[in-house]
Amino acid sequence: MMNVPLNVPAMMERAAELYSKKEVVSRTLTGVQRLNYEEIAGRTKKLAGQLQALGVRQGDRVGTIAWNHHRHLESYFAIPGAGGVLHTINLRLSPEHLRYVINHAEDKLLLIDEDLLPLIEPIQDQLSTVEGYIVMSDTKEYSTTLSPVYDYETLIENGDAHFSLLTDVSEEAPAGICYTSATTGNPKGVVYSHRAIALHSYALGLADTAALSERDRCMPVVPMFHANAWGLPFAATWFGTTQVLPGPQFTPDLLAELIEQENVTLTAGVPTIWMGLLQAWEKGNYDTSSLRAVLCGGSAAPAAMIEAFEVKYNVPFLHAYGMTETSPLASVATLKSYQYDLPKEEQLEIRATQGLPAPGVEMKVVNADGDVAWGSGEMGELLIRGPWIADEYDQDERSAEAFQDGWLYTGDVATRDEEGNIRLVDRTKDLVKSGGEWISSVDLENAIMAHDGVLEAAVIAVPHPDWQERPVACVVKKEGFEALRDQDILDSIRPQFAKWWLPDDVVFLDELPKTSVGKFLKRSLREQFSEHLMK
Ligand code: ADP
Repeated sequence: MMNVPLNVPAMMERAAELYSKKEVVSRTLTGVQRLNYEEIAGRTKKLAGQLQALGVRQGDRVGTIAWNHHRHLESYFAIPGAGGVLHTINLRLSPEHLRYVINHAEDKLLLIDEDLLPLIEPIQDQLSTVEGYIVMSDTKEYSTTLSPVYDYETLIENGDAHFSLLTDVSEEAPAGICYTSATTGNPKGVVYSHRAIALHSYALGLADTAALSERDRCMPVVPMFHANAWGLPFAATWFGTTQVLPGPQFTPDLLAELIEQENVTLTAGVPTIWMGLLQAWEKGNYDTSSLRAVLCGGSAAPAAMIEAFEVKYNVPFLHAYGMTETSPLASVATLKSYQYDLPKEEQLEIRATQGLPAPGVEMKVVNADGDVAWGSGEMGELLIRGPWIADEYDQDERSAEAFQDGWLYTGDVATRDEEGNIRLVDRTKDLVKSGGEWISSVDLENAIMAHDGVLEAAVIAVPHPDWQERPVACVVKKEGFEALRDQDILDSIRPQFAKWWLPDDVVFLDELPKTSVGKFLKRSLREQFSEHLMK
């Protein structure tokens, strides 16, 4: 067979060639813009040429600090198209971590949204490798202390429409780098090769994963600065899929409007986004009928949420699992054909697991006794390997712990059922270790979130004088459920758990702290409640 290298910029060329009429719908600060793939590809080429003119050479990292919009999409292809490595920077990182990732990646240029300039201006003196800043704006009416500064649209206006994207590179060459969002220590960099991104894109198109196709109208709500919006912008461009990019500072109502107005068929994001959307749908009168799938990952999707989407709104829900280190799609929860005869409740249970590894991905669960047997109910650490799974962190001594014997040690604790489904019990550090036994915070949260009056729930391990740790539930009530008491919550979950699993306390909060990508920030809750059971 021919050894033709897989290549990221070639994906954009295919879109321009075959799907020139198909659209990218992009919400920016001034409104919604529509560009077709011919226009997007033309702009991408001009940008790539300008990046080279500004000194980008093969292997140079170029950072982006941007929301989900068409300019960010163009950068996804123009940066590798100029020979560079796309570094999508998580704009919600602390100033200290922003400085760390930009310096660690050795970014040569930064492309930045005009409304995000204040994130970088105060730290520019501490950025040791950045040689210039490119501002993405609709109006060119911004002022900044960043220097030297270039205007994105001016670069495009003056760009070379005949510039050829660099497609003749080794498929093993780096095309992108993302940093994990670091719940402890500094973020860790994961470098993606052209090959990994292309194979992962194929995986998103498989009928038994996300089935992304040309017929979709795909709206990634997951940020393009978080695990490359789960790789959707790459795959959608390659397949000629219509993309709907929701832009800066969106609200649940805005998402509901975009879904309705743009006839979105597939959307993707973390559970907290979907909780917000459900609330918007409950209050407003939105049309949801265009949706064929809501892809959910990043944290466990409670069964109650899956049910709400499917039963109340007739919107199919797809639960997937992955990490920055896994590109990120690793597994998807889908029923096997013979499981459609199972009672609805059992089906729901399977679909709330983290599912089956995608074709090409291998998983195993190991503990001190070795490989955990399927169906044994035993827990262990989840290990993953495959062609789009990282094999190291970029220049980081923490690689030695996470990557061993050709496997990624995920730090996630899981069981495996008799059909091979992975069921995540917890992250190692979130498990509640009570009197020598483990309690899954995730199981308790999922049960609590099934209560009608609960908007959000996070269960944390709190130090206890007799039991080492005990679970405490932190709960946010829904509007209209102000009278809800701790006993109501405990009574609602009591039938499902052994007595010693029940939380020692339920505390009600106005909101739960979230990480930069919208997951519950349990570390901060653990700090807040560290003395709660010490009396
Ligand atoms: P970070 O590690 O910085 O939080 P990632 O997005 O890479 O950023 O997070 C990966 C982790 O998210 C996984 O290791 C796992 O703990 C959690 N996760 C991802 N998807 C799911 C899911 N479907 N169910 C439960 N946990 C999930």
